[in-house]
Amino acid sequence: MKNYAVSEDNSLGREFFESKSPLRNDFQRDRDRIIHSSAFRRLMYKTQVFVNHEGDMFRTRLTHSLEVSQISRGIARSLQLNEDLAETIALAHDLGHTPFGHAGQDALNKCMKNFGGFEHNFQSLRVVDHLEKRYLGFDGLNLTFESREGILKHCSQKNAKLLGNVGSRFIKKTHPSLEAQVVDIADSIAYNIHDIEDGYRSGILTLDKLKDMSFFREIFDELKLSDCRKNEKICIHETLRRMMFILIEDVTQNSIKLINLSSIKSIHDVRGYKEELIKFTKSIQIKLDKCRQFLKTNLYKHPRVEKMSNNAQEIITNLFDYYCKNIHELPDDFQNYDDQYRAVADFLSGMTDRFAKSTHNSLII
Ligand code: MG
Repeated sequence: MKNYAVSEDNSLGREFFESKSPLRNDFQRDRDRIIHSSAFRRLMYKTQVFVNHEGDMFRTRLTHSLEVSQISRGIARSLQLNEDLAETIALAHDLGHTPFGHAGQDALNKCMKNFGGFEHNFQSLRVVDHLEKRYLGFDGLNLTFESREGILKHCSQKNAKLLGNVGSRFIKKTHPSLEAQVVDIADSIAYNIHDIEDGYRSGILTLDKLKDMSFFREIFDELKLSDCRKNEKICIHETLRRMMFILIEDVTQNSIKLINLSSIKSIHDVRGYKEELIKFTKSIQIKLDKCRQFLKTNLYKHPRVEKMSNNAQEIITNLFDYYCKNIHELPDDFQNYDDQYRAVADFLSGMTDRFAKSTHNSLII
C-alpha cells in the first residue's frame, strides 16, 4: 500500500477500546461486523429503483452494495490503497436507506421536517454507531473512524456539528480518505450502469430510447450490426460492460495522474489537500452527467416509476402519522427515546419494502 493509504498504523481507531484480533486487521473486522448486522440483511428487500415485488431480477440495495464493493476493491487495488477499507465502506454505504428508495427517503424527510429532518447518509452512520445492538459493551458496531468517515458521505452542517470528529470535515471543508473517495465514485459507476440495465429489463428504456444517450450510442455503434439484429439483449449487455470498463479505467488512470501531481505523502495530506483526488477526466465526467440526466428524465420520472414512488410516499406518510399517535406500539428498542419522532423515523427507516407494505395494510387500510 502507498503511504497515503489508510492503514492500521495511521488509523484514528475505535471509540471503545478493543484488543486487536489475531486473525483479521481492523478493517476486515469492520467489514465482518457489517456483513453480520441485521441492517445489512435487510438491504436484500429494499428498493434500488424498482420496488422489490416488481420482479426478482432487478437490483436491490444489497446487490447494489455488492457491485459497489466489487468496483471499489478493484480501483483501490490499482491505486494501491486499502482494499479492505474500501470494501467495508461500500458494503455499509446504503445501510441507512429507507424502504422504497429515494421516494421513501423524501417522504420521511418531509414527515420529519419540523423534527430535525431525515438524511440517509447520516442515518447509515446512526445504524453503525447506535441502532445495531449486538455487543454487551456498547451500542452500535464500534467501527474504526475511517469506516465511519467513509459512510458519512454527505452531511448537513447542522448534523455535522452533532458528530464531533467524524463530522468536522463538513465544517472545515476538508476531504475524506482516498478509499472513501473511491467508494463514492464506484457508487455512481454502479448505479448509472445498472439502472440502465434494469430500465431496459423493465421495458421502460428501449434500445431506440437508449440511443438518445451519446455515451451509449457511440459504444453500441461499434458492435457488428448483424450481431445486434440477432440478439439485442446481449449487445446491450456488451455495451454496458464496455461503458463500465471505460469508466473504471478512466477514473483509475486519471486519479493516478492527479495523485502523482499532488505530491501527497500521507492520509493527513489527503484530508487537507485542496480538492478530491479520485476523479474522472472532464470528458468522461460530462458523459456520466448526461447519462444521469438521461436516467432522470426517462426512467426515474417515468409514470410507472412515479406511480411506485407515489404509493411509497403514501405508505411512509401514513405509517409515520400512525406511529406518532400510537407510540406505545413501536417495538421495545424504540420505546426509550427522548425524542419520539426520531424513534418513529429510526423504526420506519429500518423497514424493508414488504414489511412497510404489509404493516401499512394491516394497520391502516
Ligand atoms: Mg449507493
